[in-house]
Amino acid sequence: MISFWEKDSFIQYDLIIAGSGIVGLSTAIEFKEKNPSKSVLILEKGIFPTGASTKNAGFACFGSLTEIIDDLQHYSEDIVLSTVEKRYKGLEKLKNRLTNFPFDYHQYGGYELISNEQLHYLDQLQEVNKLLEPIFKAPVFLNVSDKIAAFKFSNAHVQQLLFNQFEGQIHTGKMMKGLLSKARQLDIEIITGVEVIDFYDEENRVIVQAHHELQKVDFYSEQLCICINGFTNRLLPQLNVNPGRGQVLITSPIQNLPFKGTFHYDRGYYYFRNVGDRVLFGGGRHLDYEGETTTSLQTTPYIQQQLESLLKEVILPKNDFTIDMRWSGIMGFGDQKAPIVKLLSDRIGIGVRMGGMGVAIGSEVGTQLAGIM
Ligand SMILES: Cc1cc2nc3c(=O)[nH]c(=O)nc-3n(C[C@H](O)[C@H](O)[C@H](O)COP(=O)(O)OP(=O)(O)OC[C@H]3O[C@@H](n4cnc5c(N)ncnc54)[C@H](O)[C@@H]3O)c2cc1C
Repeated sequence: MISFWEKDSFIQYDLIIAGSGIVGLSTAIEFKEKNPSKSVLILEKGIFPTGASTKNAGFACFGSLTEIIDDLQHYSEDIVLSTVEKRYKGLEKLKNRLTNFPFDYHQYGGYELISNEQLHYLDQLQEVNKLLEPIFKAPVFLNVSDKIAAFKFSNAHVQQLLFNQFEGQIHTGKMMKGLLSKARQLDIEIITGVEVIDFYDEENRVIVQAHHELQKVDFYSEQLCICINGFTNRLLPQLNVNPGRGQVLITSPIQNLPFKGTFHYDRGYYYFRNVGDRVLFGGGRHLDYEGETTTSLQTTPYIQQQLESLLKEVILPKNDFTIDMRWSGIMGFGDQKAPIVKLLSDRIGIGVRMGGMGVAIGSEVGTQLAGIM
């Protein structure tokens, strides 16, 4: 039961957003900047954002050569090009949005490790560079295989190495703290530990039912945005968005770590980067698609062991290392790569299905979603 004071001051808003990941925060910030007099509340189920935005690898990327070539087999050139462009623009937007909140953006460049079985992808390198030229105005993918020895990768597994000067890396935690600080600066209210469990679209308002371990509260709002990505099917099972767990590990600091940058391996099924002197390594979802279609934030011995042995055999064959931490996060996937950004009714909008590159596209989706509300 709520009090008169609570009813008067705490439960009525112009816009409520479910989910405080990169999409929910970007939507809130964009909306409030355009509508400073409107009240905005974000309801977040976790103690802090707890889906993918605080768990990811921090690649500021827009697609590796093999991924783009694979995409061209399933989608038209226009769709592939516009997806790359939206990711690239999203990164620019994120940098602009966080101008006053440093989040360790470093453009060390991105690399792709090419094995024997993938050598045929190199035949299309020039073609893909030409396709991307209108966006980047310069060749994106360059062959830098002469660096394999200096990076000390296993020669048996890595035949060629490609370099992309436009790719960067971020400190994921600082990026999310920056977005949270910016939201608070704009007087956006954020309540954590509260799960949106249902919503009702009435003629002149939306009722948002929220659950906290101590109580259930109905909030009222002019409009509602649902930005819960990998958890979408709990609220909207009719939409085509499935959870996909991603597992990672990070090593302790490694003396004389021979490389710096972001790295894609085995057509993007695996990825790694330096975090200072450490190596963060993730992927392997394809080893158990069924088991990884889950919202459970666990790690599994099978995938973690595979990550560890690839790290030892392929990436750091000449360095000793220990694993410092392991964790997982939940992404949202569907039968198409593009995010779902649309109105479900006059008052309810949705921005979900970010796939594996939400850092890149999440800011752009926030702008789009705020724009249609
Ligand atoms: C291990 C891993 C590595 C990744 N690496 C990269 C990378 O290097 N580069 C890149 O671009 N992308 C990467 N991604 C993907 C990227 O992190 C996501 O696409 C992006 O963070 C999605 O943002 P979001 O705001 O849509 O979702 P989320 O960050 O998942 O935010 C959704 C929020 O909604 C909350 N929520 C859920 N249900 C409810 C509810 N009912 N009520 C209230 N709140 C709710 C959740 O707790 C969560 O905080 C990675 C993802 C993972 C898991």
